[in-house]
Order: sequence, then structure tokens, then C-alpha cells
Amino acid sequence: MTETRKLQCKCGETQWKVEFTPRPTHLACYCSDCQAYVNHLGQGDGYLNAAGGTELLQTVPSALRFIRGAENLRLLRLTSKGLFRWYSGCCNTPVANTLKSPGFPFVGLVLPSGAEGFGPLEAEVMTKSAKVPVKEHGFNATGFGILRRGLMAKLTGRGRSPFFDDAGKPIVAPMIVSEGR
Ligand SMILES: [Zn+2]
Ligand SMILES: [Zn+2]
Repeated sequence: MTETRKLQCKCGETQWKVEFTPRPTHLACYCSDCQAYVNHLGQGDGYLNAAGGTELLQTVPSALRFIRGAENLRLLRLTSKGLFRWYSGCCNTPVANTLKSPGFPFVGLVLPSGAEGFGPLEAEVMTKSAKVPVKEHGFNATGFGILRRGLMAKLTGRGRSPFFDDAGKPIVAPMIVSEGR
């Protein structure tokens, strides 16, 4: 049986699990948008590390299952062109980043800072926006991981995303935080 990890929002109303097949990539992103997303939800304490990094687990959406509380999912975009940034409406816990359509199978699950069971950080990216100096590494590995898993998902026909309906629309309408950026 494939290895899985269970995650939940802060209040426990929303729970999900992720399979480790295909192999995910564990990284920290320090970009200002990831910081803005977590701070907008008021979760800097717990979801940003001391240098402002967000821990992510990149995989394919079909590796993800909501066990309970999928109806709590909410969606924001920092700008009208921004990534889809999902969170739990029950307690404003950041959940995941996706593209704006399910066409390419990609999800970056947001992990609590220092979450155990996901192995060491394989990459730290966008470190120019870190609060204190952090050495950039592994950027190419994340890109290759995304392509490798995406290709496998296409080849095996595994593509179903819990974030989109059959017509390819997000399951809830996105709220745009700032039109003007
Ligand atoms: Zn919650
Ligand atoms: Zn980022």
C-alpha cells in the first residue's frame, strides 16, 4: 500500500490526506505572494518559518483526498491573474495552491512549518524575498518533479482534482484580494 500522510486545518473540521505516489517534492517558498497569502489568512504564526518561508508539498491533485469538510474549502487569488490559493473557511487555514484550471495536474499543498513525516526540504526557492538570508537551492529539482509527475499523470490517466468540477470550474468561486496589483 502506498504511504500516505494525513493533514488537517487548525480546528479539525477539514481533513485531507496525501499519497506519496507519485513521489512528491517537499520545499519551502519564500516569495512575497506566498507570504501575502498566509498573512492575509492571519496564519503567519504556524505557516511561515522564521525567514518567511512557506513549506509546500508539490504533487498531483489526484494524490489528494478530502476526508471531511471539503465543503469548507474557500478560494482566493491575490490578484486577478494570481494562482488559486485554497484555504479552509472554518478557521482560515491555508490548504493548497493550484493553477487556475485542472488541465495540468499540479498542486502545492501547504504544510505547517516544521511538519514531520515529509522528509527534509529538497528545495528552498524565491529566497530573495526571505526575511533573513536563506541559500537558494533545488529550484530545478522542483521543476523536474512537476514535469515528471505531470507526465506520469497524463500517461496513467490519473488527473482528477478535488478542487475542480467535471466542467473544469473551481468548486467555489475565487475571491480576488486586490484587483489593483
Ligand atoms: Zn478548520
Ligand atoms: Zn511562493
